[in-house]
Amino acid sequence: MIYYGKQNLNNLDIANVIKSLKAEKITQGEKPLEFENKLKTKFKSKYAISLSSGTAALHCIGLSLNWTEEDIILTSPITFIASASCALMTNSKIDFVDIDKDIFSMDPNALEDKIKLYRKKNKKITAVVITDFAGQPADWLDFYYLKKKYDIQLINDNCHSYGATYKDDIGYASKYADAVSLSFHPVKHITTIEGGAILTNNYQIYKNSKLFRSHGIDRNVQLTKRYPWKYNVKTLGYNYRMNDIQAALGISQLNRLDEFIVKKKKIAKIYDNFLNDFEFIKKPILKTNRTHSYHLYVLKINFDRLKYSKSKLFKFFKLSGITLQVHYIPLFYHQIFKKIKIDKEKFVNSVQYYKECFSVPIFSGIKKKEISKVKETLFNLKKKIYEK
Ligand SMILES: *Cc1c(COP(=O)(O)O)cnc(C)c1O
Repeated sequence: MIYYGKQNLNNLDIANVIKSLKAEKITQGEKPLEFENKLKTKFKSKYAISLSSGTAALHCIGLSLNWTEEDIILTSPITFIASASCALMTNSKIDFVDIDKDIFSMDPNALEDKIKLYRKKNKKITAVVITDFAGQPADWLDFYYLKKKYDIQLINDNCHSYGATYKDDIGYASKYADAVSLSFHPVKHITTIEGGAILTNNYQIYKNSKLFRSHGIDRNVQLTKRYPWKYNVKTLGYNYRMNDIQAALGISQLNRLDEFIVKKKKIAKIYDNFLNDFEFIKKPILKTNRTHSYHLYVLKINFDRLKYSKSKLFKFFKLSGITLQVHYIPLFYHQIFKKIKIDKEKFVNSVQYYKECFSVPIFSGIKKKEISKVKETLFNLKKKIYEK
């Protein structure tokens, strides 16, 4: 069965993991620090904090920015649940903003409308979590302008898009956003099995998130010189650390990130070219000033117009050994958000997108045979549609 995403581990990655298992320390050693230094260099941020998951990264960002029940956080409905649940983890309020119809990340105009709507009620937005959807950077210049205009915090949920560029800059994420979350889950660009990180140029976010990562424990260097046993629990914290085995794998994988993204771009190009004469399928659109890292390859079909259904499509692909996926069900459809009043007319793009979208397999280790299988199935789909 071919799935939409999969890890790419080679013999060197495996050897590096085995080596790290034989080290003196298998957690809280030097490897997480080494991985953080590599992340900082690669993505041009002042600070990097390794964590146990991308969700832990988003939670730590909220905690570090002192979000409380007073704060209102916005995100788009077309993202993974963690982009929204991080607000609930700090007891803050969450609300949604519609997506751009072409790139499916948050629409900056819809964001400004929402900010104004809240201002009419004398309420201020604290922060906005923006997912660079599928691997393509969102409209960061526009979001940065709104950040300055309305004094809002920007979080880049960069789990899909690290390795992409915006205005030729691979370090764009921490340049425009106050804090950036990364995930190293096996379906993402690189993996540490489970794992994540924060990138930031903000010293306070860096300091705070290190505290929340490790039980709220503060170690004063001067003090521990004299009293080596001493430490102080400053605040409620968690165990969100990445261990040395994960970090060793992360270092090994980060060395291969560019190679992975080149491969994904090639696969996207193959699909793009192949789909040129499929007028019933809408291909990914790339906006100017940015490159796409193709974490996902999302296609759209107007099923209503075609009198065909998404369930049938999924079954049709399954028969060829391909598991399609949907990224994502609009978050406001989930039970957890049933109390939030959603004016569906304000979310035409998200609702329409969800009706039409599906993701086909794209991952750096995909075999030629597997790409051919996807193409062949798409071709058979076209025949089936036109024969009707
Ligand atoms: C994967 C992902 C996360 C969460 O990452 P985990 O490491 O699985 O916790 C958050 N946001 C987005 C957009 C993601 O794709």
